[in-house]
Amino acid sequence: MQDCPLRTSVIGSYPFPGWLEFASQHLAEFGPEDLREMQEDAVLAAVHDQLEAGLDVITDGEQSRLDFNLSFYGYLEGIELESAPPRRWGPPAHDQRGKHQIMGELAAPRGFGAVHEFQRLQQLAPPQQSLKASIPGPFTMSGRLLPNDRYPDRYAITEALLPLIREELAALVEAGCREICVDEPSMSCYAHKSDTKRFVDIFNRTVEAVRGRCRLDAHLCFGNYKGRSVGAKRPECMFPDFLDLHVDEMHIEMATLNFRPLPLIEQVAQKMDVAVGLVDVKSYYIETPEEIADRVRECLRYAPPDRLVFAPDCGLSQTARWAAKQKLRNLVQGVRQVRQEVGV
Ligand SMILES: [Zn+2]
Repeated sequence: MQDCPLRTSVIGSYPFPGWLEFASQHLAEFGPEDLREMQEDAVLAAVHDQLEAGLDVITDGEQSRLDFNLSFYGYLEGIELESAPPRRWGPPAHDQRGKHQIMGELAAPRGFGAVHEFQRLQQLAPPQQSLKASIPGPFTMSGRLLPNDRYPDRYAITEALLPLIREELAALVEAGCREICVDEPSMSCYAHKSDTKRFVDIFNRTVEAVRGRCRLDAHLCFGNYKGRSVGAKRPECMFPDFLDLHVDEMHIEMATLNFRPLPLIEQVAQKMDVAVGLVDVKSYYIETPEEIADRVRECLRYAPPDRLVFAPDCGLSQTARWAAKQKLRNLVQGVRQVRQEVGV
């Protein structure tokens, strides 16, 4: 149970400033010091926007996960990064983001960079601010790697990635990180047609070494590549098995579902904190503070204030920055309104 009733939070990513996106297309023209400065400036921008909105918990906006070489797959040994996506034109969909070939044994001898990201955030954020790091879980991460003879299916790849992610989590805790979100949207996307008990087992083995040593969150959504979903959008399929996830906070996409499955949070709140997606990151309709407040009141019908966390449906990387800012601001304002009403 958290010490900040009706807590406001985010998932992990935040839109890149336009200049950063431009620069990410021309990385070869920058030296390592230029890149360091650029990434710090981008994190400062993301921190600024989140603090201005008034969030209780902030992240670094994943501002340095610019491209393959600077993001998770770039740290992975034993793969050959996809050189060009299989489909380059036409409406955006996840098939425009190709899969990497596995060439040898999967390893991450340098980790995945999350510790460095967290330390940079610590330096740039105000001292008492609650900070969160996020990292993809092994099942989600396996989705962009092609099986081969050595790793014949997605589960085999997942099992190979699991100890690598587990080490990264342990290193984050060692570095002083007090809250970590493990992103496993592939588990929620495919819950309707998969063995959910197997998902829970994978998740729990991933986090077992850090359980109880930090606040652990799970982010479960239905996909957000270029603002598009890929899952069946039926969170019911995750339950009751996902109640056995060893986490302190379970995040569920809810705004895009018009809160239809909201009663589900009652059972979640009996076991852990529940972070409800109150803001639709895929829509440019800006939820007003009054609407947010109504949604918070609705959540309070199913869970007590000290079990509730409010966040957008997903990371904000696919939402234009002007909209992301307004949505976060209104999210915090709406929640504050209800905090006053209930006296927390
Ligand atoms: Zn998501």
